[in-house]
Amino acid sequence: MKEGIHPKYDKCTVRCACGNTFETKSVKDEIRLEICSECHPFYTGNQKTVERGGRAEKFKKKYGIK
Ligand SMILES: [Zn+2]
Repeated sequence: MKEGIHPKYDKCTVRCACGNTFETKSVKDEIRLEICSECHPFYTGNQKTVERGGRAEKFKKKYGIK
């Protein structure tokens, strides 16, 4: 393998908007999330945070899915 063409793949801190942080491996030093497994409504059952983004809603509209 040539030197210098591969990005650094190392320990990375993931920070979520809810305040949760955890470590993973990435080429980035830090990753910022708006939602993580700790605050995602799928895991928490809390529907409040699901309203942000709305990507699924746009998708549904686009394809006429109700
Ligand atoms: Zn979170």
